[in-house]
Amino acid sequence: AKESGKRTWCVFSSELADRAEARRSVEMDLHRAVENSELQLYFQPQVSTKTGEIVGCETLIRWNHPTRGLIGPGSFIQHAEDSGIITRLGNWALREALSQARRLPKHMHIAVNISPLQIHSASLVSTIINALATNGIDPGRLELEITESVLMTDTEFTLDRLNQLKQIGLKISLDDFGTGFSSLSYLRRFPFDRLKIDKSFVEDIDHDEDSRAITKATLTLAKALNMKCTAEGVETECQKQFLTDIGCDELQGYLISRPQPLEKLKHLINLAPEP
Ligand code: C2E
Ligand code: CA
Ligand code: CA
Ligand code: CA
Repeated sequence: AKESGKRTWCVFSSELADRAEARRSVEMDLHRAVENSELQLYFQPQVSTKTGEIVGCETLIRWNHPTRGLIGPGSFIQHAEDSGIITRLGNWALREALSQARRLPKHMHIAVNISPLQIHSASLVSTIINALATNGIDPGRLELEITESVLMTDTEFTLDRLNQLKQIGLKISLDDFGTGFSSLSYLRRFPFDRLKIDKSFVEDIDHDEDSRAITKATLTLAKALNMKCTAEGVETECQKQFLTDIGCDELQGYLISRPQPLEKLKHLINLAPEP
């Protein structure tokens, strides 16, 4: 509405009020969601290009809303972040991911998305240590996926926190690489184990030479810095072939599998029975 100069102030103001109202209602809704276990984790397999085997899964949150049905994180994670409830939601996601990970074969890693506010949360480290111990999961199997936005604020604190997490034995991945305001100096300062090539580049591999060049250069950079590389959003055989040829380590995307409740992946993954 902001950019429409023709609208009257009155309309603008009521739109703002509507938006504030909508936000408050999402926040209240989210509190209830966490209380009533309306949240659910979906798992998306990640495949090794060398062996073709599934070597890990990323967990992606979903909201089974009582009236609105199944909602993806795109429409609520930002609200959760703005209202601060992301900390509770994120701690829930970590505990849930590690609890369900008991069903995965022991060689598989588990990637969990972590939002900027969560990195600052005082409870992050203890939640992770406890959940790993409770579920008997080797810390080296847990990969935290963070985006560049995490690195931009409070850099010293973030660096300390990431090093603290590394000391427990976790892995850190830089998610959505190339989409933010990335500065290459971040790659030198922060202890990343993995770069994830954003799906916006992968999407264009089939028809855009520049995207192929950027993808290839990203991989070269990752290798030079001793990081693993995962491509997300792989949908076509052609993308898979290109990414395999250039030596990308792992692939993730609808071509392999959509994100699913873990139980629904049992035809792909040898799952232990529910504990
Ligand atoms: P992301 O971490 O970049 O996750 C990848 C997104 O791409 C997911 O969307 C996934 O479902 C989708 N995707 C996977 N394969 C394909 C493909 O082949 N084609 C296309 N078009 N899309 C594909 P989703 O599940 O809607 O999640 C959106 C974002 O929400 C995630 O982006 C992540 O930033 C955030 N998110 C999800 N779960 C959590 C969570 O537990 N905590 C936090 N803080 N953020 C989360
Ligand atoms: Ca991610
Ligand atoms: Ca991503
Ligand atoms: Ca992405």
